[in-house]
Amino acid sequence: MSIEIRSVTKNFGKHCALKNIDLSIPGGELVSLLGPSGSGKTTLLRIIAGLEAPDSGSILFHGEDATKQSARDRKVGFVFQNYALFRHMTVFENVAFGLKVKPRRDRLSKSGIRDKVFQLLKLVQIDWLVDHYPFQLSGGQRQRVALARALAVEPRVLLLDEPFGALDAKVRKELRRWLRRLHDEIHVTSVFVTHDQEEALEVSDIVVVMNEGQIEQVGAPDDVYDHPANPFVHGFLGGVSIHGLPASAYVRPHEIELSRKRNGVPGFYGVVKYIFRKGTTVHLELERDNGECVDVEIDRDSFRDLELKEGEKVHAVPGNSRVFSN
Ligand code: ADP
Ligand code: MG
Repeated sequence: MSIEIRSVTKNFGKHCALKNIDLSIPGGELVSLLGPSGSGKTTLLRIIAGLEAPDSGSILFHGEDATKQSARDRKVGFVFQNYALFRHMTVFENVAFGLKVKPRRDRLSKSGIRDKVFQLLKLVQIDWLVDHYPFQLSGGQRQRVALARALAVEPRVLLLDEPFGALDAKVRKELRRWLRRLHDEIHVTSVFVTHDQEEALEVSDIVVVMNEGQIEQVGAPDDVYDHPANPFVHGFLGGVSIHGLPASAYVRPHEIELSRKRNGVPGFYGVVKYIFRKGTTVHLELERDNGECVDVEIDRDSFRDLELKEGEKVHAVPGNSRVFSN
């Protein structure tokens, strides 16, 4: 099921939440909407769902205008950050719910529903929790139930709004890999909202970078990372800017090399203001003569060889820098 968003604009009072958005989402892909808080991701997702109407513009599902269709008629499945499962229902009952409330003519038999629920719980790998209540589940398990429940009614489109946002870092990582594998199995057109660049780059086929109600860039993860269209995308995907070289240069912290001496290579000097270790890398904050601070990331071995301390001067050479014209 492809989704086409055409010239969609949405205002809340005087505030323009979406400005003339055009976007094509090919069928069967997992697309993420990536952007800072307030950039309009949730609003766009709710408009795709039919939970919010655009002020102007249209939404097409599989080439057909769905702008005036209700959320129910659009047949979308939803998973939110704090997806409230029915607290008084077991995992089984939660997942079966959407199947049981179908009109009689579309409804499966009792044993049909049972088979389907077990099939879904196996798919999300929690069939052993079938008789548990939500309070007996971890956050990650709850989100899997939420996903199974959304998938139960065979949605044409799956919409996920920061589904792993409330989980701790380790579970988040596990679940996003699991979601990726799950999507490879079921291929339902999915739109995944996140403000976490790592999550978007890892999980999706296509990344849509949003900022202030507009789309900054659309591309495959490697594309947006290696060829950011502008300073915003570069910065949002973890880049730093260095001003006052021949032009402003944009580079990633791990692309900057440090040395004790200049060795004739063009670059800049900076004083090490701050050092902290994170896993296998060491992060340094350098302050240049002009007061500008630049983040640098090097591996532990290079850091050890340099024997750097806070307050010392070091020479930095940006590799692979990008220049954007204004
Ligand atoms: P995101 O999901 O990217 O954080 P949202 O789509 O939730 O962003 O919000 C975009 C902008 O629209 C924000 O400035 C937000 O405050 C505003 N907004 C969203 N929903 C409403 C609403 N129902 N009423 C008023 N303002 C809203
Ligand atoms: Mg949001």
